[in-house]
Amino acid sequence: MSNHGDLGGLCVHQISFGLEHDFAACTEPLARAGVGLTAVWHDKLAKIGAARAARILRDSGVAAVSLCPGGILTQRAETEFRAALERNRRMLADAAEIGAATMVTISGGLDEGERDIRFARDRALEGLTRLVPEARAAGVKLALEPLSPVTCATRGVLTTTALTNDWWEAMDAPDVVGIALDSYAIWWDPGIMDQIARAAGRILNLHLADWRRDTRDLRFDRGMPGDGVIDIPGLIGAVRATGFTGPLEFELFSALDWWQRAPDETVAEIVRRYRTLTEPPA
Ligand code: ZN
Repeated sequence: MSNHGDLGGLCVHQISFGLEHDFAACTEPLARAGVGLTAVWHDKLAKIGAARAARILRDSGVAAVSLCPGGILTQRAETEFRAALERNRRMLADAAEIGAATMVTISGGLDEGERDIRFARDRALEGLTRLVPEARAAGVKLALEPLSPVTCATRGVLTTTALTNDWWEAMDAPDVVGIALDSYAIWWDPGIMDQIARAAGRILNLHLADWRRDTRDLRFDRGMPGDGVIDIPGLIGAVRATGFTGPLEFELFSALDWWQRAPDETVAEIVRRYRTLTEPPA
């Protein structure tokens, strides 16, 4: 780890390259750049199947730390809720097959016509709790990820780190449930430092992206760490202080910028930013 130039603590999410590049096209640039860790985007895996995805990873020397995004369990209709649980069970099997330690789970937003956010939150917690035995059997941990309140309606009624800690405690399965924190989702929260401390021992994944002050899209205009308003070193320091030793994961939903560039260019810039974040100040 102390090796100068060592990238062992860097993970790059496949989604950082955009939606159009396929699984192999999201893996090979990492191998070329010496990045050995990725987070797999399930849509990309689903197009080729888990067995082939596992082979591409193995052949490239890139390991999957997690599979994203699981969860999305707020459906009121019983048939749709059951279908969502089934989708998660298949994802857990896929995660196990590619050797991912965690499946990152988001709660889901509000159904069309739904106005009862308390129901949606209870439903998501119920669904996640139902997945516990399946996750345990698969040997894959569930990493609960709060999202920014700006996507509450469509993606995540789990909006704060405090609520995530509450759910973690309610699920009462510390061997198989943890928390994924994403700088882009948590930076605005006045209670964040207390909640990170409360999450000690629970944090499984740390996602990084910056909030551009003049953001042009609330979901798809994430900046590279250093290009926005978030004190990313401060957040990393707080998470490290809890005992977290996992990699720094770059997750760039950037339709307006990085997704328009070649993956090799994006990785090269990520490596530069990673070095800025990890090298001791001169
Ligand atoms: Zn994330």
